[in-house]
Amino acid sequence: MGTVLITGASRGIGSACALAFAREGYDVAVNYNKSKDNAETLVREISSLGVRALAVQADVSDSAQVSRMFETVRAELGTVDVLVNNAGISMYGLLTDLSDSDWDRMIASDLSSVFYCCRCALSDMLSSHSGVIINIASMWGEVGASCEAAYSAAKAGVIGLTKALAKEVGPSGIRVNAVSPGVVMTDMMSDFSDDDIRALRDETPLNSIGEPLDIADAVVFLASDKARFITGQVLSVNGGMVI
Ligand code: NAP
Repeated sequence: MGTVLITGASRGIGSACALAFAREGYDVAVNYNKSKDNAETLVREISSLGVRALAVQADVSDSAQVSRMFETVRAELGTVDVLVNNAGISMYGLLTDLSDSDWDRMIASDLSSVFYCCRCALSDMLSSHSGVIINIASMWGEVGASCEAAYSAAKAGVIGLTKALAKEVGPSGIRVNAVSPGVVMTDMMSDFSDDDIRALRDETPLNSIGEPLDIADAVVFLASDKARFITGQVLSVNGGMVI
């Protein structure tokens, strides 16, 4: 099937994507930043499915670390056929309380990381005239969230980058899409109380909160040949919360 590199695959949505791709027969590069044990446990689980897996540490907000990560993956698993830009952080608070460094950290983690990884992946994809990139955005990048201005701006940037890059590299046989999750139960939701979660569920037409696998299934679909005529799109997976 080829090789997939998933950023931020040590936990949550990225981890579910890694397992879903492994079940499809892909070799999987599991990028992590701090959660080494999680990444190594996941790699063992993936290897038991009969495909190759590699845990590769890199802070994807750092361009040099991203370049090194791609060199490692290329040497161990071969060139990256599918790139999933999933790593990200969230940040809550009034815009007037954000410091310059908060803003810079958010843009570096959630937007510049996508640029760095796309640039590295494309150098091989352009020569092979094939490849798929899937960027994990957010419904807040589509409609904006109060008290999440930096996060919403970064994710809106991811959506803009996705559309522009799809136009740029479509003629080279490369597809670029975004998956835009709604509320999904991961560590990113750990600051929310049970009441907050219940309120979010009540606001969602399908009356449930998303699971990481809901997002992973959409990502695997967009990577597959079944999505061969789909590029530059934002696939919202949010239970109908934003329509
Ligand atoms: P999560 O459970 O908090 O996991 C975040 C992952 O990103 C971890 O594996 C973490 O790695 C990695 N990461 C963060 N910064 C990194 C960096 N600089 N370099 C490398 N890895 C980094 O989050 P999640 O909920 O699965 O979110 C995954 C993606 O979905 C994010 O882009 C998020 O914005 C998006 N999303 C989530 C939701 C939601 O409701 N959960 C909704 C919309 C969009 P380490 O632990 O190894 O440091």
